[in-house]
Amino acid sequence: MSEVNNTGSFHTYLSEGCRLCQQGAKMVLFVTGVCHRDCFYCPVSAERRKDVVFANERVVNCDQDLIEEARIMNALGTGITGGEPLLVPEKVFHYIRLLKSEFGLGHHIHLYTSVAPDTDTISRLAEAGLDEIRFHPPASMWDEMETSPYAASIGYARQFDIEAGIEVPAIEGIEKVAAFTRKMDCFLNLNELEFSESNAGAMSLKGFVLEGDISNAVAGSMELARNMLCRGGAGKVHFCTSTYKDAVQLRERLVRIARNTARVFDEITEEGTVIYGQILCKDAEAAEEVTELLTEEGIPPEMIEVRDRSVETAWWVLEDVADLVRENTEDVSIVERYPFENGFVVEKIPL
Ligand code: SF4
Repeated sequence: MSEVNNTGSFHTYLSEGCRLCQQGAKMVLFVTGVCHRDCFYCPVSAERRKDVVFANERVVNCDQDLIEEARIMNALGTGITGGEPLLVPEKVFHYIRLLKSEFGLGHHIHLYTSVAPDTDTISRLAEAGLDEIRFHPPASMWDEMETSPYAASIGYARQFDIEAGIEVPAIEGIEKVAAFTRKMDCFLNLNELEFSESNAGAMSLKGFVLEGDISNAVAGSMELARNMLCRGGAGKVHFCTSTYKDAVQLRERLVRIARNTARVFDEITEEGTVIYGQILCKDAEAAEEVTELLTEEGIPPEMIEVRDRSVETAWWVLEDVADLVRENTEDVSIVERYPFENGFVVEKIPL
């Protein structure tokens, strides 16, 4: 029996990592952009294809950066990805230990890897606290999965109580992978194939085209996954659409961050953005004068925040006082932005 949602995603089975991801509660830890493979569909951007670490969109220069990002989104777990994470195994062990010691054993960690680790590496991952591993075998190996090293790695993971599965894009050949995962009784995560800036050239050369104008999904990828399910060739499968990742997972993550970081006067939208009023002054001195004016108007201090030359308050407060403060200011607007420090401004409405 499969469950389908309104973005087209469906599943007969959801791993714990996917369950938390759907709540927007997983932090994405990108441990390196370096990878020895050359998948034509690789979505990693040119800027990230080097030895860099990101926690969600935040550059990680020290452990504290990672901890802060997890706190800000109230993360219940972390997905480790890359590049190829196991090219930097010591870093992976370190981050798993760090997250488990900071947030407790219940902080669920899954790892995505294109290699098939030996028993020693798996035992070290287990010792550090890894909960789930998703293998991403190259398409050239899909014909011989049963005799591939991935079959052995899945066995090692099980010996050490790590949930194991396969994660690949939904392209021609997935039924061979599905036959393998059914035989191994492990989960199969299929991602809808997507165009990105980094893979567009290679994908076009292979004849892939966009499904439509409003998403990056590749035409036919969803049908391949659906047909496989209809033919009864699924087993424990989860198909995740491009729209689902953008529309649901990202939104849920933004809402979590906004709830944790919004000021009393910020309005949190259903999309996870925040709306507030902004008075941009000529300089810090002018900002002080505007603040005094707002205080004289009876606006309590907790409803005002001054950031250098920007005075911020509730959007509905600003609507009332806009004419009073306009003099000596550069811009008086209602701002909607992503809920991070210097988050992307979605809309700015001048008053
Ligand atoms: S294994 Fe992953 S990171 Fe490496 S090239 Fe393939 S898709 Fe990109």
